[in-house]
Amino acid sequence: MDLGIRNRVAMVAAASKGLGRAIAETLAAEGCRVSICARTVEALAPVRDAIGEEHALAVACDVSKADDLQRWYDATTERFGAADIVVTNTGGPPAAPFLELAEEQWRSGIDSTLMNVVRLCRLAIPAMQERKWGRIVHLTSFVAKQPVELLTVSSTLRAGLSGLTKTLADQVARDGITVNAVLPGHFLTDRQKHLSEIRAKAQGITPEEYLRRSEQVIPMGRYGDPRELANVVAFLCSERASYVTGASLQVDGGLYRGTF
Ligand code: NAP
Repeated sequence: MDLGIRNRVAMVAAASKGLGRAIAETLAAEGCRVSICARTVEALAPVRDAIGEEHALAVACDVSKADDLQRWYDATTERFGAADIVVTNTGGPPAAPFLELAEEQWRSGIDSTLMNVVRLCRLAIPAMQERKWGRIVHLTSFVAKQPVELLTVSSTLRAGLSGLTKTLADQVARDGITVNAVLPGHFLTDRQKHLSEIRAKAQGITPEEYLRRSEQVIPMGRYGDPRELANVVAFLCSERASYVTGASLQVDGGLYRGTF
């Protein structure tokens, strides 16, 4: 299927590795010009080189900072023109049970997980409205639908992002802009390895044993490959997904236990 997004300008946040990198490379393979960011510009270089410098722009940007987002948006517009596609993403927020979380951890979680999305959408939507075409996809987590004890901040804010996805989708639907959220289950990235180490330690088992046990809970019996998630995101960013908006879609091998 031709996704119909050749030459579209895509901004993919937090894309030097893991899920963001897979999304950036998949959109590039579909012919998009891709602007990627992360806090460490050196870590972005291999992604930019893999895509090819002609079609990729790498900008150092901490998505929890409004000024950084503005700089990234301006640099993208200057190089490629205004963004047609925006994929919001960030590192995982602080992971701890409620009573161990300090005020500051909540505040940094809100800035990096919620406000980065609000701010990036505010920057990108006016030009999408002018051109009557836009695709916004929020990369969040299955914990938006099925909270997890260790992920108190993430579970709270990701449910909020599903609320934002729906309310924003309604408000820009007639401008040809779709807004959807993709909720990953378990993909074996550095973030997932970090969480496995914390959980394995708490349970007195090795990280390998923890991973083996947690795979058994997934109906498909395995962790996902980041490319399997990226394919879904690319579809939602495409011309072909023109009538899908306001959805919060889990990509999780069946992990989420609810019906809706
Ligand atoms: P990852 O492999 O650890 O990659 C995180 C990426 O985000 C890196 O490129 C990192 O680069 C960048 N980043 C972190 N903080 C940033 C910031 N403040 N500003 C800009 N870039 C930042 O993580 P991942 O597994 O791909 O996870 C991506 C997101 O999906 C996270 O929010 C995670 O909670 C969520 N998620 C992941 C899974 C999973 O199974 N992997 C499941 C559910 C949800 P720098 O460090 O250089 O900034």
